[in-house]
Amino acid sequence: MNARTYLDHNATSPVRPEAREALLAALDATGNGSSVHAEGRASRGVMDVARARVAALVGANPAGVIFTSSGTEADALALTPDYRRGETPIRCDVLLVSAVEHAAVLRGHRFPTDRVEVLPVDARGRVKLDALDAALERHSAAGRRVLLSLMVANNETGVIQPLAEAARRAHAHGALVHTDAVQAAGRIPLSLPLLGADMMSVSAHKLGGAPGAAALILADPDLRPAPLIGGGEQERGRRAGSENVPAIAAFGAAALRAADCVEADGTRINGLRERLEDALRCEFPELVLLVGDVDRLPNTSCLALPGVPAETVVIALDLAGVAASAGAACSSGKVAASHVLGAMGVSERIARSAIRLSFGWSSGEEDVDRALGVFRRVLPGLLRRRAAA
Ligand code: PLP
Repeated sequence: MNARTYLDHNATSPVRPEAREALLAALDATGNGSSVHAEGRASRGVMDVARARVAALVGANPAGVIFTSSGTEADALALTPDYRRGETPIRCDVLLVSAVEHAAVLRGHRFPTDRVEVLPVDARGRVKLDALDAALERHSAAGRRVLLSLMVANNETGVIQPLAEAARRAHAHGALVHTDAVQAAGRIPLSLPLLGADMMSVSAHKLGGAPGAAALILADPDLRPAPLIGGGEQERGRRAGSENVPAIAAFGAAALRAADCVEADGTRINGLRERLEDALRCEFPELVLLVGDVDRLPNTSCLALPGVPAETVVIALDLAGVAASAGAACSSGKVAASHVLGAMGVSERIARSAIRLSFGWSSGEEDVDRALGVFRRVLPGLLRRRAAA
């Protein structure tokens, strides 16, 4: 079989060997983490280790980690109007989100739609802080408490948001702050205390864990979002249902490994991405690099061949052995232009041509070489077809 080049880590990353090992070991063990017997205690022990590792990845308190089944579920758990801190209820009246949030935030929240306000972003996809200030002032003058949800980094472009500054401004108005760190966790160093958010979503399958585990991490374990799923007292009554111990064990192993090598991998992966982007820019001046000169994740490249539909490029690359994606994985297969690029003011023609290449922990120089070889084979034909159309 010809070797394939996987450049879609933002959709899902391959399972790291350490995570696979932890997953298989936990699969071989019996025991529900809620049971009092030895087998149950062993499963609970496995989860406690994973909880500490996931918390350590973002410098948080393990007691603040609520395991969920997916990043989508973690976002939905956080984005509720109803909170408690200890015994005191906290009611959020309005949800503020940036226009470039993932669908899990834009469509997964639990607010009535007339209580959601979408904040504009600038041409590079960063939330406009003056629009945030204006919204915060307007809502606090009307006596409304805000819940702000602003991602650390975007899944389509990799652009990093000014989260610490936004959180500082939001807190000055008594708001709660959630951040979706699903793409950033394990790819750049993250500190929940330094970012200043009240809670953060992370997902195992983006950082080399297995699908089926994710977490909402609370900076203050006494802050409790209204549960999304009622039932048993798992996760301290914050998320009912027997935990997915094997996936959680793998999540912990992946988080530990990611934390150990996040700096070194970030530098290495940034080098791979830069080499690919530089070569493509030089050899194919028709390619547009959609975000370059801005703080962004080291692994993500967003490119467009204007006038050639993204699906056409993705299929041609796939047939030639490169896995890439057209915008967000969740919207691939659909012809709709990306809401992220639309919010940045990118023209519809270019947005419909945008493809995403994303590197990760398993990527190496050979992936850049093979991807370049494939681009050299595939792009001239696509450009000829574009000229003939
Ligand atoms: N948030 C962001 C920024 C994402 O990129 C994704 C998935 O692509 C999600 C949330 C949803 O995560 P999951 O696939 O674990 O549900």
